[in-house]
Amino acid sequence: MSFGPGAWCLVFMKSRANKNILKIKPYVPGKPIEDVKRDFGLKNVIKLASNENPYGPSPKVLKAIAQEAKSLNRYPDGSCFLLRQELSKRFKVSPEQLVFGCGSDETIVLALRAFVNEGDEVVMAKPSFLVYSIASTAVGATLREVPLKGLRYDLPAMKQAVSSKTKIVFIGNPDNPSGQYPTKIEISEFLNGFPDEVLVFFDEAYFEFASSQKDYADTLALLKTRKNIIVARTFSKIYGLAGLRIGYAIASSEVADLMNRVREPFNVTSLAQVAAMAALKDSAYYKRILKELDRERERVCKALGELGVEVSQGCTNFIQVKVPRDSREIALALMKKGVIIRDMSVWGLENYIRVTIGRPTENGKFLKALREVLQKA
Ligand SMILES: *Cc1c(COP(=O)(O)O)cnc(C)c1O
Repeated sequence: MSFGPGAWCLVFMKSRANKNILKIKPYVPGKPIEDVKRDFGLKNVIKLASNENPYGPSPKVLKAIAQEAKSLNRYPDGSCFLLRQELSKRFKVSPEQLVFGCGSDETIVLALRAFVNEGDEVVMAKPSFLVYSIASTAVGATLREVPLKGLRYDLPAMKQAVSSKTKIVFIGNPDNPSGQYPTKIEISEFLNGFPDEVLVFFDEAYFEFASSQKDYADTLALLKTRKNIIVARTFSKIYGLAGLRIGYAIASSEVADLMNRVREPFNVTSLAQVAAMAALKDSAYYKRILKELDRERERVCKALGELGVEVSQGCTNFIQVKVPRDSREIALALMKKGVIIRDMSVWGLENYIRVTIGRPTENGKFLKALREVLQKA
């Protein structure tokens, strides 16, 4: 059979597709810098849209990558042996408890593929990290989405949403786009009487930003007594390796084994593995950046307050700014001035933008651009 290009072909292929994926609205990432330069004829564009570390990885990481590049003809170590040893020592877990992923995003997918059958339920907040809903829908799960209260999790309502069909509950700790985390006490109440057979997936992409907070839960300690906890972390955020794609999950060895069964054998590149090792060894470099970003977040929030806009700041490297007009319009106006931020209408929050904290000069450029955009009625 032959069919030409055009609408009919699309209809035909759609009728052939996995029916679960037809429900997915494709993920729209922050616009890349080069696209904005081209589209608006701009020379200088900054991106404060994807919660990246604006300073990049440690120079020691770059050196390790250059060294390893000579062996790119070889497949990577599919078990991530050295990194596995290193992290298992650091976190006092056994090596079999670790699952590595192409970004921690992949560990979300692995957990879903390992545990969810068509018709099973997955509980998450709304709005929450978009990968939870996209990946859950793809495996045929029914989403139970529990609205945030303010910008915070309503954990009692999320516990109520758990049924006999629930396989996984996703908790962004802290979450994105909200930037908030449930407190240690809230989590402990949530887990009290929680069914042992339902997995609780703590997504800790911003762990390094939050871990010094007094009321931040130690989820790895919870894992010692519970087999139904998964803790995911990443090298994409503070470690500045978003482009290399490496993250990991820590779970009970039984859960990790099941997740590893659906993992592709060489899902983490050799460059990512050596980069992650080198990053872990240069903690001084990352501590300096954490401090700098904290200071900058305070400064930006103060300046926004003086502009008269409402701002929500957690402890991460991004903030939520309430804007007086539709966030799509504000985002476009900022983009025309060479500043890419995230308009939160994609999460149903039409009056908010999400802004990543960048270098001082970048934050200055954002503040100036926003001031100008708000002045124009
Ligand atoms: C950035 C982010 C991740 C992970 O991204 P990877 O690059 O895939 O490691 C996971 N969860 C949240 C909430 C994030 O913001």
